Amino acid sequence: MSAPAESGRDPAQARIECELPAGEGWTHELAAGSTLRIVDLHGNQAVDTLFFDAHDYANRYSAVDTIREQRGAYLELGSRLLALDCEPLVSIVADTCGGHDTLGGACSQESNVVRYGEHTRHMHACRNTFLAQALRWGRGLDKRDLTANVNFFMNVPLGPDGELRFADGISAPGRHVELSAERDTLVLISNCPQLNNPCNGYDPTPVQLLVWDAP
Ligand SMILES: [Zn+2]
Repeated sequence: MSAPAESGRDPAQARIECELPAGEGWTHELAAGSTLRIVDLHGNQAVDTLFFDAHDYANRYSAVDTIREQRGAYLELGSRLLALDCEPLVSIVADTCGGHDTLGGACSQESNVVRYGEHTRHMHACRNTFLAQALRWGRGLDKRDLTANVNFFMNVPLGPDGELRFADGISAPGRHVELSAERDTLVLISNCPQLNNPCNGYDPTPVQLLVWDAP
């Protein structure tokens, strides 16, 4: 986990500023050189995110290549989030949380049933949001493109024997992560509606999104 690195960017200069409620999605084409900040307004929210080369959706974020090349399981300040071509889509240029998960995956109706029981089958899940966002965006983006994701602000400790668990969050109100686009990158966000695990304190909350154009 890295030391906090606050951004010096001025929110008043951002071209886009919006608040995304828990359970909602956001799709945006981030032009090369522009910057996206995600603010965990109330703390311990999980922000499930997918990245694609904006000109070739088949060339998507690859968690496997990112982890192998950086020799670390968590995303933190300086992490380069690689696409399948092993070149970066975005880089983390500021981070006051300290580490982000890319092992735990996105919640789905199926995983809810397996983890939490049949009664959770009809609860809204990130995979539903991703699917709705992808279909609304169109342009060839499809269900098959929804693969490994990042969970910003989510705490999934990796134990000494390689076991994973979903733990209480390490984030706090107002913490942020900032991503610089290394190429034109399509970003899909599902602000997680999960009610069954402690990562978000069983209380999904809104996040703030800001975008600055390339300087
Ligand atoms: Zn989720």
